[in-house]
Amino acid sequence: MYGILKLLKLHGWYRRSLKQKNMFEQIGFNETDVAAMLKYSIKDIYRACRREFQKVPWRRLVCNNVGQPKWTFILFLALHRRLQTKERIACWANLDDMECVLCEQENEDIDHLLFECVYAKQVWSKLLAWKSIRREAWNWKHEVQWAIENATKKTAQREIYRMTLAGGVYHLWQERNARIFKAKRRSADQVIKQLIREIHVRTRRVRRLDRCTKDLNFYP
Ligand SMILES: [Zn+2]
Repeated sequence: MYGILKLLKLHGWYRRSLKQKNMFEQIGFNETDVAAMLKYSIKDIYRACRREFQKVPWRRLVCNNVGQPKWTFILFLALHRRLQTKERIACWANLDDMECVLCEQENEDIDHLLFECVYAKQVWSKLLAWKSIRREAWNWKHEVQWAIENATKKTAQREIYRMTLAGGVYHLWQERNARIFKAKRRSADQVIKQLIREIHVRTRRVRRLDRCTKDLNFYP
């Protein structure tokens, strides 16, 4: 019995060491290099395995976003232009109905759905007014560019702006899906109120953000 256990233990060690050996080989070390190592840094090995890639300019909008994870996930997909809009689906399937379900006037693509649509414009203009940002909402590309230049620092105001951007994108996408798949609809004002309530709940956990949202205790 003892012999079998010892054998299994040795087998496990062998498999682990084989895995490690493969891992080192993947990042360009041979056995002699590893044996000669005086210091072993998991961080360095992890970075070498992961490899370095060019950083996207909008990374702080997603990574430094204290909004709900589902908001930042949808924002991440939108920034990659990977949301399955009708324009995108039409690339690989026959789609007769290309109409935007929010305004029922134009064709649906990501730029239209998230910013150029009348419905989306209504949502953004009120959210910007709520945040005391005195300007009209622009198109998707300009809005992201503005956010990268003006809202990536770690101040409470800018953190709340990033949350609002992620939450707004999420709720517009949800509204579109609810109309298509559940035949339910909300007005732009209902969407705005829900998002503002969710931002207040979310910021209550972080004292510096909570102080800031106390001044935003109203609906635009
Ligand atoms: Zn529309």
